[in-house]
Amino acid sequence: MKRYCYYCDKDVEYTVKEELIHDNIEGVEYSFVAKLAYCNGCGKEIYIAELDDENIRNANAEYKKKAGLTS
Ligand SMILES: [Zn+2]
Repeated sequence: MKRYCYYCDKDVEYTVKEELIHDNIEGVEYSFVAKLAYCNGCGKEIYIAELDDENIRNANAEYKKKAGLTS
């Protein structure tokens, strides 16, 4: 499966890496594992909507846990 890379200006093969992200919302610190895609050609991060959606869901879930909120 290929995705468009802005830097290479073409569809490229990419590699998904998991990275632990630390963030802070209104003083509540939390961390979550984000999936980030990197172009195999130039090594730059590329945007993939499905991964972004998943990252946001994970971030929200971890934030709610830390903030003591139930969803
Ligand atoms: Zn590229």
